[in-house]
Amino acid sequence: MINNIFDDKVNQLKKDGLYKDIPVIFSKCQNRITINGQQNVINLSSNNYLGLGQHPLVIDAAKKALDQFGVGAGAVRPIVGNNVLIGELEDLIARFKNEEAVTLFQSGLTANLGTIPAITDKGDLILSDALNHASIIDGIRLSKADKKVYKHSDMNDLEHLLKDHRASYNQVLIITDGVFSMDGDIADLPSIVNLAKTYQCMTYVDDAHGSGVLGRNGRGTIDHFGLHGQVDFIMGTLSKAIGVVGGYIASKKSVKEWLLNRARPILFSTAVPPSSLAAIKRSIELLELDQTRVNQLHYNTNLLRTGLIEMGYDVLKSTTPIIPVIIGDEILTAQVSKSLLDRGVFVSPIVFPTVPPSTGRLRIMVSATLTKEDIDEALNVFKDIGDQLKLIN
Ligand SMILES: *Cc1c(COP(=O)(O)O)cnc(C)c1O
Repeated sequence: MINNIFDDKVNQLKKDGLYKDIPVIFSKCQNRITINGQQNVINLSSNNYLGLGQHPLVIDAAKKALDQFGVGAGAVRPIVGNNVLIGELEDLIARFKNEEAVTLFQSGLTANLGTIPAITDKGDLILSDALNHASIIDGIRLSKADKKVYKHSDMNDLEHLLKDHRASYNQVLIITDGVFSMDGDIADLPSIVNLAKTYQCMTYVDDAHGSGVLGRNGRGTIDHFGLHGQVDFIMGTLSKAIGVVGGYIASKKSVKEWLLNRARPILFSTAVPPSSLAAIKRSIELLELDQTRVNQLHYNTNLLRTGLIEMGYDVLKSTTPIIPVIIGDEILTAQVSKSLLDRGVFVSPIVFPTVPPSTGRLRIMVSATLTKEDIDEALNVFKDIGDQLKLIN
């Protein structure tokens, strides 16, 4: 390689405060973790919203499947990787979500990367919210359709684009996060569904952060708004609140048949391991039976959010367990995160390019597993650091 170009690139990242030193976790990913050797740290950054990833019954289910099927799926689904548990799981999720059919993928990311290009074509248009997740953006890049971005949750802007461009395209797909992963706000799905009806468009909701969090027993953002049957493609992840790994698309049955034949992650990447399938199944069954964990999650979210707002922190318009604590400057954001960790609280700093420049933030991800003691202690530390670094007044 000429000139060590990557040394220069990495050095520039460090200079700009954008270099990430990825922390190492030595414990279960739960309310208290051992991170970089530091013990008993309060974890405010896990997507394991409900603690299901460490639930003894979920672990038992995985162990049983390990004994029965071994560790790997052995092939892609269309060859011999389509373990009987996949179909059972898809049916379970479809019933849980109140949708006609579900197609399983290896992750939320591959669900987006595989589905968006499979359901759109040349002559189509994709309209995408400005704050959509990276996996949507990359899925759109893989599509042959044209794309336009509307201002974040701005329904006037979306309607403008529809008025100006609908007639020039075959199909138009409106695509949005259900819960926005960086700001924690909820998409205006009722308006999006209405616009889609008026302008004859298809709708696609990435519900990675709504699944297991919003709606009855965590059925998601569509359930939260009572919009069953009115969104064409609902992507969900099994890696976050469900606590394991995987993603899916809930849709009409014909869409499932199309994806099984056309979505490239299904055709060209090995299926989810059977132990994970069994764990996911158990996890969803627990969720279906019992709303307590979801209630606890919202209780904890409320304690943390109101505590931070009372201190004077800016948490944007978040109403979900994603609480962005806005700091601004990238280098200061990293410094605040480090000061918190020195005091035993881990909150991941999120900076450009994940979020726009100068909107650096500590993104709190609340979990139902946090105790009152964890939350009080975390808030105390936020107060001390905020005073010290003059972030609050
Ligand atoms: C995490 C996330 C994904 C990816 O899900 P994985 O299962 O982790 O691959 C997709 N979309 C959004 C909005 C996410 O937050």
